[in-house]
Amino acid sequence: MLVNQKYEIFPNEEQKKMLDRWLQYCRQTYNSALLDKERKYRKNKENYNRYDMQRQQTLDKKRYPFLKEVPSQPLQEVFVRLKKAFDSFFRKDTKYPKQKKYKDYTSMTFPQFGINEKGNRMAMSFSDNGKLFNTKLGEIDILLHRPLEGRMKQLVLKRQGKRWYAIFCVERQAIPTSIDSNNAVGIDVGLNKYAVLSNGLEYDNPRFLRKKEKQLKKAQRKLSKKKKGSANYIRQVQQVRQFHEKVANQRKDFLHKLSYNLAKDYSVIAVENLNIRNMVRNRKLSKSISDAGWGMFRNMLAYKCEKNSGVLIKVEPTFTSQDCSCCNNRVKKSLSIRTHICKKCGTVLDRDYNAAINILQKAKEELLVIN
Ligand SMILES: [Zn+2]
Repeated sequence: MLVNQKYEIFPNEEQKKMLDRWLQYCRQTYNSALLDKERKYRKNKENYNRYDMQRQQTLDKKRYPFLKEVPSQPLQEVFVRLKKAFDSFFRKDTKYPKQKKYKDYTSMTFPQFGINEKGNRMAMSFSDNGKLFNTKLGEIDILLHRPLEGRMKQLVLKRQGKRWYAIFCVERQAIPTSIDSNNAVGIDVGLNKYAVLSNGLEYDNPRFLRKKEKQLKKAQRKLSKKKKGSANYIRQVQQVRQFHEKVANQRKDFLHKLSYNLAKDYSVIAVENLNIRNMVRNRKLSKSISDAGWGMFRNMLAYKCEKNSGVLIKVEPTFTSQDCSCCNNRVKKSLSIRTHICKKCGTVLDRDYNAAINILQKAKEELLVIN
């Protein structure tokens, strides 16, 4: 089966400009091929196909040398897209193919990746130091937040807002039949409630834990008032340490139970991949994130899922709490706003519940079985 694995890449300004230019050339190629096709059909009912388009492209490249900047594979793949657009139109799945605007054309496909059997480097490959490599672009940093497993079939470079992503289509051993992708759940971990699931279930921090945490804070305050090095101070330090340990143990216990139950109940669990960059952006939040043991919770989930022959999918956290889970409309909201209200489709949901649904949605996109 084929699986998509998505990673953020970090092109520098020069590389961004070039990638953007390549996208424009692909888009122009798409639009002009569409126009040609329509014109030829109107004129003498000619069926102008992919191969005719490729022949035309060879001529175009002579007339417009700038087209040679784009590797030929993604430029040719444009015609595959156009064919697919017509195929699905004739199947009555979609509307008639349209001219693409800047915002509609955001990705290009490299049908082959890496080094082939003959030892030749394809247009896109990994360099020796593990960066994405193309002769014209040079090396691009890539964040491999989880290992790329399986044989790589193709690579899609995609622009989303100001960011760029590399989406690898990977061939994998079929996932164990025990995995039931319908039995999937998205989890949003938060500060107000510990976890909110995409099916509406909520798990709160246990009361005893909250009580212990309060005691810990009190003990810490007391310590700050004591004279450093005094007998009282030393006693208080020990007290704080004890509270710390108790809170840590109880939290661990709580997380063990929660992750055990979730891994038992669901075959596919989706969580956010909270990367370091997001954490550093907000120091105060990052402290509470580590306090709540999210990293620990995710690790527990990962190995418990594996043990139960399920899967844990970590998705990109971008916009999971902003986007409307019903209509995809982006509703900007600060952390203090606890309710998602979409003016476009009228959806009103708890903020975390909305996020959990989005997390599940993203995981399903990743699990997308193409075959
Ligand atoms: Zn909406």
